[in-house]
Amino acid sequence: MSVEPFDAVDVIRAKRDGGMVPEKALRWMVDAYTRGYVSDAQMASFAMAVFQRGMERDEIRVLTDAMIASGERMSFATLGKKTVDKHSTGGVGDKITLPLAPLVAVFGVAVPQLSGRGLGHTGGTLDKLESIPGWRAALSNEEMFAQMQGDVGAVICAAGSGLAPADKKLYALRDVTGTVEAIPLIASSIMSKKIAEGTDALVLDVKFGSGAFMQDIDRARELARTMVALGTDSGVATTALLTDMNVPLGRAIGNANEVRESVEVLAGGGPADVRELTLALAREMLALAGQPDADVEAALDDGRAMDGWKAMIRAQDGDPDAPLPTARETHVVTAPADGVVSQMDALPFGIAAWRLGAGRARAEDPVIFEAGIDLHAKPGDRVVAGQPLFTLSAADEARFPRALEALEGSWAIGDEAPAAGPIVRERITA
Ligand code: URA
Repeated sequence: MSVEPFDAVDVIRAKRDGGMVPEKALRWMVDAYTRGYVSDAQMASFAMAVFQRGMERDEIRVLTDAMIASGERMSFATLGKKTVDKHSTGGVGDKITLPLAPLVAVFGVAVPQLSGRGLGHTGGTLDKLESIPGWRAALSNEEMFAQMQGDVGAVICAAGSGLAPADKKLYALRDVTGTVEAIPLIASSIMSKKIAEGTDALVLDVKFGSGAFMQDIDRARELARTMVALGTDSGVATTALLTDMNVPLGRAIGNANEVRESVEVLAGGGPADVRELTLALAREMLALAGQPDADVEAALDDGRAMDGWKAMIRAQDGDPDAPLPTARETHVVTAPADGVVSQMDALPFGIAAWRLGAGRARAEDPVIFEAGIDLHAKPGDRVVAGQPLFTLSAADEARFPRALEALEGSWAIGDEAPAAGPIVRERITA
């Protein structure tokens, strides 16, 4: 039996007391945890120490590198096209990947969107797409490569289990130990997967506000700067946008209804905020791919992005023209008085949609595709008493009381429209 070169307790103590963990010890900690030598209890304690004490930039770089080294590294070098990916830190009603990937691919850029499933109140791109009959999330590396190389250009699929397995294990542990919202841990988790994936360039949608991991813009900025530095240092051209997640994005929160809304955007319509963010992220992605002047609005409005969407769905055995699931049970909430919608807090709406069945409480649970919330009014809209404000959908009406409970106090009708700013607040570059 080989002798381990470090002791987990020493590493935990060093971080607990506010010190820097030496590079070799940190690399060992990640490797030994992935092998199962360091226990969940020890790693949870270390994660909490990082949560409390933070990490220096250099430690975050080593942690990210160690997580990359835990698995395979993909390469798209032989593809003959530039590859650009987008990652969102997660929000409520965030379906942007769906219209964005085919839109960017219109311009001859390959888009490798390795996506995840939702856990907690933030939705998952794969869950949304699986509401399309026949659509398949699991692709082999060869299938993924062929789809990007051919006319389709864009692929949205599940990340293989070989990519950053240390993160997979650590993320599941953080999720149940109250250690998700730590900048060094989020930054290393996201960037290890993106760097291992082998994309040439990456645009980060870093969200702040009630529906995001980072509640305030200062912490979101710090997270964005940390991730941009990690990407840039690893040779991945990386830009971040700081975007507002205080109010649900668009008018649909769920799975099938979010696909419906994405298709509206691909048809040149859809809610203004979803279109605005899709266009802003597409411009950033194409700028990194050397096409800063690409006319992304035209590609949405003239049907090229829609054609790309249909081809992308068909390539993964989905039927883009098949009807999407609709809910058996609905519950409509109406305006109690005349006025203006003055508040609509993203987090409770995310929790309510989750309780309706749109999200999962345990990783192994299925989601209910037709469950969710459709918003008929958003902050700033004038309403009259009795007018529908939002519709809750579920497979079973027993789900409504707890969802309605989550929504108590989360929205209001007042006299004045709330102050509204642009959805994209800042741009962070290297
Ligand atoms: N998404 C990730 O992949 N990791 C995190 O830590 C947070 C969001």
